[in-house]
Amino acid sequence: MNQNNKDDTGANKGLMDFIQESQQDVLESNYSETEENGNDDDFSDDEEEEFEDYEQILEEKGKDYVLLAPENLSASYLIDVKYDGKNEKAYVKLFNPDDEKVYRWYDSTNHLPYLLTTVKKTDVEHILKNEKEYIGCELVKRYNRLNQKNISLTKVLATNPLAIGGRSKSYREKIKPSFEANIRYHLNYIYDNALVPGLFYEIVDNKLIRKEPRLQDEVKKNIMAIFEGQSKEILELVEQYLPLFFAPIPSLKRCSVDIEVESEKNKIPDPNTATQKVISVGITNEKQQTCVYVLNENKKPIDRSKITVDVKEFDKESELLIEVFKEMSRYPLVITFNGDSFDFLYLNNRAKKLSIEESVIPFVLTRTQDIYLVNGIHLDLYRFFRQPAIRIYAFGGAYERNTLDELGRTLLNKEKLKHDKDIWELNLEELIEYNGRDAEITFELTSFKNNQVIELIIMLSRITKMPIDDFTRASISIWIQNWMYFEHRIRNNLIPRQEDILRLKGDTSTEAIIKGKKYQGAIVIEPQAGVWWNVYTLDFASLYPSIIKTRNLSYETINCSHQECKKNKIHETKHWICEKQVGISSMLVGFIRDIRVYWFKDRAKDQSLTERERTQSNVIQSSLKVLLNASYGVFGSDNFALYCPPVAESTAALAREAISKTKQYTEEKLGLKVLYGDTDSIFVHKPTPENVKELEKWSMDTFQIELGTDYIFRYCCLSDRKKNYFGITTKGTPIVKGLMGKKKNTPELAKKPFEKALKILSDVQNPDDLDNAKERIIKTIKRVNQKISKREFELEELAISVTLSKKIEQYDSWTQPLQAAIQLIINFPDGEKPTVGSLISFIKTKPFKIQSHDIKLSDKISKSNECSVKPIQLANKSDVDIPKVKELLKSTLIQLLDTIGISWSESIEGQKSLDSWFS
Ligand SMILES: [Zn+2]
Repeated sequence: MNQNNKDDTGANKGLMDFIQESQQDVLESNYSETEENGNDDDFSDDEEEEFEDYEQILEEKGKDYVLLAPENLSASYLIDVKYDGKNEKAYVKLFNPDDEKVYRWYDSTNHLPYLLTTVKKTDVEHILKNEKEYIGCELVKRYNRLNQKNISLTKVLATNPLAIGGRSKSYREKIKPSFEANIRYHLNYIYDNALVPGLFYEIVDNKLIRKEPRLQDEVKKNIMAIFEGQSKEILELVEQYLPLFFAPIPSLKRCSVDIEVESEKNKIPDPNTATQKVISVGITNEKQQTCVYVLNENKKPIDRSKITVDVKEFDKESELLIEVFKEMSRYPLVITFNGDSFDFLYLNNRAKKLSIEESVIPFVLTRTQDIYLVNGIHLDLYRFFRQPAIRIYAFGGAYERNTLDELGRTLLNKEKLKHDKDIWELNLEELIEYNGRDAEITFELTSFKNNQVIELIIMLSRITKMPIDDFTRASISIWIQNWMYFEHRIRNNLIPRQEDILRLKGDTSTEAIIKGKKYQGAIVIEPQAGVWWNVYTLDFASLYPSIIKTRNLSYETINCSHQECKKNKIHETKHWICEKQVGISSMLVGFIRDIRVYWFKDRAKDQSLTERERTQSNVIQSSLKVLLNASYGVFGSDNFALYCPPVAESTAALAREAISKTKQYTEEKLGLKVLYGDTDSIFVHKPTPENVKELEKWSMDTFQIELGTDYIFRYCCLSDRKKNYFGITTKGTPIVKGLMGKKKNTPELAKKPFEKALKILSDVQNPDDLDNAKERIIKTIKRVNQKISKREFELEELAISVTLSKKIEQYDSWTQPLQAAIQLIINFPDGEKPTVGSLISFIKTKPFKIQSHDIKLSDKISKSNECSVKPIQLANKSDVDIPKVKELLKSTLIQLLDTIGISWSESIEGQKSLDSWFS
């Protein structure tokens, strides 16, 4: 329990009160409604008949779990939006917190799939006259942001989405040009009804109605004050988004599921054929209770004193599965780690194999290999955590490999159970414990730090308007695309086609310095090599999103059609920006930047708030950060629907301009030395606090972007290589950039002296200390170098550990981890076969050839047999290639040594000790 939470007397009415009150409101309003409408006759016989009609047309699969929503339903969380192909209707899933059930509400507005076109209605009718699924046309008006004109369009309606697009002869192929024809139907349904996944909705007379959370007047007033004086569009955005940020985040009832499958030696169970028995299934629920459903065909006695979880025994596999399906269906949210590709796929195929009735199998397999649940939603954490945006921006790169073990270890400090045996050798008690632990880790990945992951997912899902199912499986450019599509639709703006943007806005005009890039990227100021005392690093707060905002960058504002805007040129490019309309991405990115920087970021750390308020603010600011960090890059990536290279190019050019002007000002006006600069920061030598203040003010006046102090270095060492430095802050913390020793798969033998050197350098207080430190570092490294010569090391210290990212047969190149994996298979024919996710440890050796084998490899490498590594299990000290190890030590340390002026050849190798001559 947090100290602050205990001390909170409630005098400061905060978010927590607001949440409780608004929940109270919801409850109260439900009660009053029941009183008003609450005669039992409302659920008359007529309606029950209708109920049955509906059920008959439901898909057979998993139908036992589906609860159709009644005509009236108290406020419930919108957890999902889907399309029912059989019914030809969109539906939403609502989780009702009162009875903890999930209800399915089918569209009652007769919403239909459609596309838009400039082709005239009569011509459309001619083209589609023989199409059975064609319903008709409507005339609609849209605003086209690309040319700032209102246009009239024909809206072509069909009975189902496949008629519009997705088949070989769908309407979008026949009617050209067609607009908005590539958007998946359930997403269209969300936009047209302005639905927000994760918010409260109620059903009143079979209509879906959003239930607004009550906002605290004080909070609202303070936030509006931040945006005072900004455009009307921005103020509307504030109004639109406040309910999304402040509506209570549902504490969704949930469970995790993890399965174990009987496996024979050397065979990895194949989820597509599911030929082996499911021997146990672990389920952990939100009360952190774990139950393992275990197959015990021979009714062996289980020693309960050896297990820590609940157990349910089954002598029939089919009964076990049915019980598991029933249990799962009680939850609106079911979590797996890799359920899409393994656990659920296996359970689904195994259930079919055992001839379990379709109506109790809860899985829906999609064409894109995702697995949804009929009733609740399926969150596959493997797919969520592997997103680079999540790994880097939400979790600060805490984990490198996306495995359950590594996530558990780094985020939860909880590892998988380890034992020397393989899964088929475990006794029942061991199996139960092992399986239970996996289910627990899977669950806790969503519950640690007060449910941080679930809350982050729900908040991002609200902002981007993507259902959790889709959101957790899509890449960040798709999130941003969906978010922007929604914002177009609710403004009645035509969603532009990528080809139209490219045709009108043209290409890039600066030359790329990095090969493969389409335009010139970030600036790097030449580093002034050497050791510098008292250095400030100043950086621009979210520079790229800030530029998008302050310079009005968007696909429609760049290179606009107005003659008079052409004077508003962008530095170093041939582009200009519109001065007559506000760009939609500028507006959206600007809004989330401002609300993050000016409101949520500080509140996430504000000790005067309750812990709950801080956590929620932190969830919001992290969600916004994830989006902001991607907001610039997407415009330069052609898999983004609003791809517009001139926007990305201009953002980069303006960022370079900001840095160069700041450098110029610092040197010319303040007379200070700028030592280095990269992307959004500059290193200034010995500024006074007044200097720093002046720079901050100047930056705000010149660019409307904040310049802040990132680090104050007691001293900092720059090498003449870019992006390569280290500094010791005034608090003694080492900051290391780009140096080899930091990399996680550097072997211990080289990493340890690197860390030792950093430790020595952290204690340095003045230039005299530094000379002593250098002596000590030289000694340390020389000692290691000599030990290597004498082979005085353990093999483990040299191991490089890598997780296989693909199956063996999927490798196209003869990589070192693959070489090691192949050797393991050859030498341990009875061992577990390395595959995706297996951790391989190997050491570098002199080149040698491996014996021939019959392991299936991709054609490109099937003849490769020359290896330069050995798996640690097979290696001896005599295999170690000493010059290579020395090279490794050198490459790990040389950059660090460079920065403090130690020469490798002179100081480390120059005076060879007598010993090393004889080794
Ligand atoms: Zn213009």
